[in-house]
Amino acid sequence: MTPGKAGSVRLIDAPQPNASAGQVLLRTSKIGICGTDLEIIQGEYGEAPLGSEYLIFGHECLATVEDAPNNSAGVRKGDLVVPTVRRPDSCLNCQSGESDMCLTGQYKEHGIKGLHGFCSEYSLSDLNYLVPVPAELSDVAVLLEPASVAEKGVFQSFKIQERMMWKPTKALVLGTGPVGLLTVLLLKLRGLDVTAVATRPKDSLKARTVEKIGGTYVNANDQPITSLGKFDLIMEETGVASLAAEAQGLLNNNGVLCLLGIYRPNLATQDIGHSYDDIVLGNKITFGSVNANKRYFLSGIQDFRIIQQKFPGVLNSMFTRRVGPSDYSQAYNPTKDDIKSVIDFDLP
Ligand code: BGC
Repeated sequence: MTPGKAGSVRLIDAPQPNASAGQVLLRTSKIGICGTDLEIIQGEYGEAPLGSEYLIFGHECLATVEDAPNNSAGVRKGDLVVPTVRRPDSCLNCQSGESDMCLTGQYKEHGIKGLHGFCSEYSLSDLNYLVPVPAELSDVAVLLEPASVAEKGVFQSFKIQERMMWKPTKALVLGTGPVGLLTVLLLKLRGLDVTAVATRPKDSLKARTVEKIGGTYVNANDQPITSLGKFDLIMEETGVASLAAEAQGLLNNNGVLCLLGIYRPNLATQDIGHSYDDIVLGNKITFGSVNANKRYFLSGIQDFRIIQQKFPGVLNSMFTRRVGPSDYSQAYNPTKDDIKSVIDFDLP
């Protein structure tokens, strides 16, 4: 893809990358496609590496280590791994293992900003940013990157709420894309009563997945979200600014709203004074969360193990499209009913 040039996604013969010190050569197995990839395709986002006129896609990846330098981290040829997305700059947070909390915005992201992604037979990653994947999770591990984003949002919400005595019971998830559904799973594991809202019909796969996990699915076209009552925790994953503003009014006193979408500039649709008053008088919090550091990938692995036992088949059912690299254009044209499209390098 040529960043900034809509529709320039293409299949090319790229040279095999050469690992420099501290880097590992990866052989890609699967690449997941997400909304960020589609935004880059539309020319709205994305940055090529310095000196390259194109950006190789792919930040959701499952790969095998093809070649690794001698290292004390235990990374060996043949290991199944998921690389994290973001690479640090020199700021305090990045240097403390929290590149997801980068202070300057000068970080790089594989397949998104300034670094090639993993959507090629071979790719490179820094050794220290690989998450080992147990064999029993190999068929679902390409979901680990979107799960890490959900893990961070949920973890940070609970961490923030340590500001007081807080025993949440009701959670609302807005949006049922992969991150939304993974969030529903994580909140169910934490024993919450979860309602998920989207605009697909009640008999859609997304709606059925929510119900299978034990959540309640609401089609916003049938029922306004303002009729759903109040919630202790709300995870907003649609990226629709007006919905985010509306969601804030659905918080219980002491509640927390986590914004995980990417919002377009828009006119304010709400009376800000009323909204701030509601936040103050109810001790409410709204915060944003982006990306995820290695810690959230590791907690994702632990949660995947539990999910596979408690909700067998649910993670697998999220793969609605699987194509080989030569059919890449199908993967980048999902329908509204697709959940996760995957490019599988074991296919032609
Ligand atoms: C990725 C994140 C990334 C964000 C912004 C998301 O799709 O999952 O890792 O930080 O896009 O670039």
